[in-house]
Amino acid sequence: MFFQKEIETMSRKEIENLQLERIKHIVAYAYDNVPFYKEKFDKIGLKPSHIKTFRDYENVPFTTKDDFRSNYPYSLFAVPMDDIVRIHASSGTTGKPVVVGYTRKDLDIWSDVVARFIVSSGGRKSDIVQNAFGYGLFTGALGLHMGWEKVGATVVPISSGNTERQIMLMKDLKVTALIATPSYGLYMGETMLNMGLKPSDLSLRLGFFGAEASTKETHEQLRKIFGIKTNDNYGLTEVMGPGVAGECYLNDGMHIAEDHFYAEILNKETFKSMGENEYGELVITTLTKEGLPVLRYRTKDITRISKKPCACSRTMARMDKIIGRTDDMLIIRGVNVFPSQIEAVLMDMEEVGNSFEIIVDRVGYMDTLEVRIEISDEKLLLDYGLLEKLRDRIRKKFKEVLQIDVKVKLVEPMSLQRFEGKARRVKDLRNK
Ligand code: ADP
Ligand code: ZN
Repeated sequence: MFFQKEIETMSRKEIENLQLERIKHIVAYAYDNVPFYKEKFDKIGLKPSHIKTFRDYENVPFTTKDDFRSNYPYSLFAVPMDDIVRIHASSGTTGKPVVVGYTRKDLDIWSDVVARFIVSSGGRKSDIVQNAFGYGLFTGALGLHMGWEKVGATVVPISSGNTERQIMLMKDLKVTALIATPSYGLYMGETMLNMGLKPSDLSLRLGFFGAEASTKETHEQLRKIFGIKTNDNYGLTEVMGPGVAGECYLNDGMHIAEDHFYAEILNKETFKSMGENEYGELVITTLTKEGLPVLRYRTKDITRISKKPCACSRTMARMDKIIGRTDDMLIIRGVNVFPSQIEAVLMDMEEVGNSFEIIVDRVGYMDTLEVRIEISDEKLLLDYGLLEKLRDRIRKKFKEVLQIDVKVKLVEPMSLQRFEGKARRVKDLRNK
């Protein structure tokens, strides 16, 4: 069984010593091999030798997505192209994508960290794994693929899409573990039911639903539909891909691979370091990457970190589910709203189906927020009284959670868009 026990169960002191050693190394490595970092350091008179403590490290400037764009495609690489064996890129809906490169050793470490969370949440060599992440430049599919191969399982690289065929193969191949985005997972679940199949017709026991934000409620829904255990895992192209952090079987936070990544939580406005269990922006440093070392990358993802020991015996700190991104937070009439808050309310309600859409607009000077929600049973459409009651209940719940009035529109089951990869549920019409 793949378990790097001597690393995954180190004492906190040992982890911190290792991280500090590696921080010093990666800073010097980036400074010596990537002109972008040298220039940044020189500009503020910082030398790698100045960094002796975690506190000193806070003087290192951040790296952002824009830095990747202005160094497109290869200027942040620290090794000659000869030593790069793989390229990936993030989709980047606007402008140029973020391009990243890996050495052979980078790929090896990447497989290790993915294998860690797979095994920690119950994945085994005996599993048959359907990988319904979209294969290609996206780090998700190949990242999970390599991790499962390291575990020794049987990988079915089906990619995303063609959902009925996915379900048919899942059944016929006796697939035991599924990899998909949470939104695609829900869609696959609906498709299974529409095909007249139930969980007991399948051999599925585990679902790996990561790569996009999902609430506990959504995972609960996925567990219910398929009758399985689920795992959430986190990563991003700029620092590697999946494997940065992943849940163990206890589903109580995602263990960060702290021997390869140094995670900081910073106040969104002041960028001051936050304490344990306080929410802020996650900033990540790669500690061992050769091809593309990244110092203090601002992920824009908001979460908190706990260093409390976990009952699974692993000592690596755990990050909470991402509650949102600083750039997908909606400001409605001055109130901050995260799509995840809306998701949490809806996924907890029996009468509500698996899809919703958030529409933000401006009427005169007023921001409006409308949520279009699928009901789960179309019979409800025949009873206007019941429908009105449900709408009222949802509206009240939103008011309670978000502190603002939300327009609620109930729509027929399966009438909203479905996603085969990461969902795009928010339509902001204010600046159109
Ligand atoms: P793309 O920009 O193409 O989506 P990435 O795969 O690099 O490329 O996206 C990384 C982002 O996806 C993260 O910064 C985060 O916002 C989101 N993400 C990835 N995994 C999770 C997860 N488990 N929970 C919440 N958000 C996630
Ligand atoms: Zn654990």
